[in-house]
Amino acid sequence: MGEFDLIARYFTRPAARAALGVGDDCALLAPKPGTQLAISSDMLVQGRHFFADVEPSALGHKALAVNLSDLAACGATPLAFTLALALPSADEAWLAPFSRGLLALADAHGCELVGGDTTQGPLNICITVFGEVPVLNGKSQALLRSGASAGDDVYVSGTLGDARLALQALRGQLTLPASVMAQARQRLEQPTPRVALGQALRGVASAALDVSDGLLGDLQHLLTASGVGATIDSSITTNLIAACAHPDWATGLISLNQQLEYTLAGGDDYELVFSAPAAARQAVQAAARQADTAVTRIGRIEDQPGLRLVDAQGQRLSSSFSSFDHFC
Ligand code: ADP
Ligand code: MG
Repeated sequence: MGEFDLIARYFTRPAARAALGVGDDCALLAPKPGTQLAISSDMLVQGRHFFADVEPSALGHKALAVNLSDLAACGATPLAFTLALALPSADEAWLAPFSRGLLALADAHGCELVGGDTTQGPLNICITVFGEVPVLNGKSQALLRSGASAGDDVYVSGTLGDARLALQALRGQLTLPASVMAQARQRLEQPTPRVALGQALRGVASAALDVSDGLLGDLQHLLTASGVGATIDSSITTNLIAACAHPDWATGLISLNQQLEYTLAGGDDYELVFSAPAAARQAVQAAARQADTAVTRIGRIEDQPGLRLVDAQGQRLSSSFSSFDHFC
């Protein structure tokens, strides 16, 4: 199968929302009047972001999910995406499930594949997503990292640490009951981008970003961008690991310290961490209900720079949990 057959068979569908889709030199998008385009790219490299034997349909899902998560963090509505793909060979047994997983998530979010590039090479998947954010009275409604102020509450969506738990098990560093592993592995390989929550938080959250490298490290980016600090209650975040609530979970499967590390610095969570004024607590819960996504209040923004971690009694914990950095 040649390059153009491959594109036609697995990555071309009639354009629905885009003015022009796959097949010409450029795609054409028609963002609604009164909106801004939100644009983000994420690359997945074999051996770095995924194991060679990962299920191709899950990989297709994840490649788009991590990009949609960035749109979610900005409160953007997904519009379209492009796919730049390097493939060792035109293996249809891989391409068919990859494209199925990718396009199923795309359809679920009304996000159209409008173009890309295909080349032979070591497996590498780079997606660029485009979304829309409304502009009201000349002001962008995008959620930024830079809007948090002292006194705001800090929240996180969903659960934390399960992807890291699955990763440790896949690396052979711990053993989990099969049912617990299945649930955790789903979080690692097929994360759910919090797109509806991001949109519902427009006009409610003061700042937001998505947690891809670990809660503490990513939250620090928001704090730095906002010129503030925060105190986080680790007795709340520690319990956000979903696996521990599984009926087949047994105490002692991981230590409390591991639980702290996975939830605070696990990585691959693709949840939203955001701040909102204390006066907006009801509005935050209403947004969570509207998006059918749980959110948990985990701390507070303060003037004093830095990130402080406390236990249930308010005692300071020393935090040596660093988040993932590709070059450290
Ligand atoms: P060009 O040489 O002009 O860059 P290509 O020959 O690479 O165009 O691609 C032909 C068409 O197929 C273009 O519309 C391009 O956007 C699209 N395309 C290429 N690879 C992919 C892919 N992996 N997924 C979706 N569309 C693709
Ligand atoms: Mg090209």
